[in-house]
Amino acid sequence: PTQTLVDLIDDAVARFDRRTALEFFGAETSYRELGEQIARAAEGLRRLGVGPGDRVALVLPNCPQHVVAFYAVLRLGAVVVEHNPLYTARELRHQFEDHGATVAIVWDATADTIADFPRDIRPAHVISVDLTRALPFGKRMALRLPLRKARTARAALTTRPTARGVVAWQDVQDARPLSKRHPRPALGDTALLQYTSGTTGTPKGAVLTHRNLRANAMQGRAWVPGLREGDEVFYGVLPLFHAYGMTLCLTFAMSLGAKLVLFPKFDVDLVFAAAKQSPPTFLPAVPPIYDALARAAEARGSTAPLRGIRYAISGAMALPTASVDRWEGVTGGLLVEGYGMTESSPVAIGNPMGPTRRPGTVGVPFPSTEIRVVDAERPTEDVPAGEEGELLLRGPQVFEGYWRRPSETAETLLPGGWLRTGDIVRVSDDGFVTIVDRRKELIITGGFNVAPSEVEGVLLAHPDVRGAAVVGLPRDAGGEEVAAVVELRDGAAFDAGAMRDFCRESLTPYKVPRSIVAVDELPRSLIGKVLRREVRERLLAERD
Ligand code: ATP
Ligand code: MG
Repeated sequence: PTQTLVDLIDDAVARFDRRTALEFFGAETSYRELGEQIARAAEGLRRLGVGPGDRVALVLPNCPQHVVAFYAVLRLGAVVVEHNPLYTARELRHQFEDHGATVAIVWDATADTIADFPRDIRPAHVISVDLTRALPFGKRMALRLPLRKARTARAALTTRPTARGVVAWQDVQDARPLSKRHPRPALGDTALLQYTSGTTGTPKGAVLTHRNLRANAMQGRAWVPGLREGDEVFYGVLPLFHAYGMTLCLTFAMSLGAKLVLFPKFDVDLVFAAAKQSPPTFLPAVPPIYDALARAAEARGSTAPLRGIRYAISGAMALPTASVDRWEGVTGGLLVEGYGMTESSPVAIGNPMGPTRRPGTVGVPFPSTEIRVVDAERPTEDVPAGEEGELLLRGPQVFEGYWRRPSETAETLLPGGWLRTGDIVRVSDDGFVTIVDRRKELIITGGFNVAPSEVEGVLLAHPDVRGAAVVGLPRDAGGEEVAAVVELRDGAAFDAGAMRDFCRESLTPYKVPRSIVAVDELPRSLIGKVLRREVRERLLAERD
């Protein structure tokens, strides 16, 4: 029978019982304890008035309370709304205005901010989570340090949740569990309001149902058949507030009875420290994380902590072949690339987990997922086989639409249930998909199209380059010119002329950047995507 996410977690609690479900700075929670905490939190939330269809905002880094809150909200038939916990007050306010949550469960550093929102957008209840509770004292600093690093310009972490209307999370954990007879959500009910990354504009709330999210967790299991139930250690370094981490770390791990080790923020030292207690076996992440871990292992002369990772899955941005080679050399495991978007829960396409995977492509459509390649200007017309066009997707993981944005929904969800991805792709004769780039970010120079990611790929192959962003800038003569910004490795010297010569070896002249500048740090989203939009704005501002 097809189950909701609530049925899935109940099943896991019953089957995996005493096995560890979560680990956080060494502190473990078993599946049984997780089930009990979810039931007590659900009762506490019910008493605060949370019911079916209500939006409950979560503003939390990865931590055990995040997982408990997530499933407690779902158990009541309510809707989880995830947020980046490092968002500024202004960004959070915009999001709360958009979704209108009645209850917010937040980490202590943001409790006052949210309790101080103007009356019309302030949730009726703000529940504050003290992340260090239940951690051994010695571990508390270890938790605070990486978070503080991430919050440089923000308020101190020691804000005490004293503002009016703020309740402590532990007081919401009722003494009694929710009645087992309490009505359960249905498959078609909304489970999650998941905001997109905001790479191309303001983040949009994607409405995802239990059916969508459950389908993607099951498709994930079919994707990685080598994973053993009750026996895997997942490392949750991706944020759970993003669709990628939510599915590939959380719901996937729980459906497999895995141990999920949670990290409030990716940090090489934290990963190596955790590996002493629970060596990882499965790691979903993004290319910069694989590079950082592999380089650190090489520098320390100790690859042992990573050698248990049999499968690593990369997504969200292009995976350079050099990263694959390095990672696989260091760990002896596989690193394969997949593709997805928030609107598809998120994964839709993936490489086979074995020798037939094809680096440079994102693989083949997931089970029960169909694809089409259409003319980007006329999305009802398919392009001839093998030609480039915009990717359309259809499958059980495709969302219901954007929250309160009917016109964007109509543009994105085409008749027949096809999702317009906005990505230009090519499909080989045997069905492997190559991502060319986002439709809106292709650069038009003198009649030719340049895919920024192709040029970025060449720059990233340069030994001195750690990150690259390529954008189109308007030219006086009309059209656009290719401009590049690179982030250099520590200690590297920069020579723009030499870097352009390097590009010329692999690119036809019209693709070679007309200008290349170096910066200390590129603007990135919290999951690590380079924000070309911001790079372009900065370059334009400097021009004037
Ligand atoms: P927004 O929609 O708010 O502008 P976003 O599209 O970055 O932000 P996500 O849903 O997190 O938000 O990302 C989906 C996009 O990520 C895809 O449309 C695609 O452009 C990109 N992407 C995902 N996987 C890959 C991959 N393997 N290679 C290249 N790009 C990828
Ligand atoms: Mg998008």
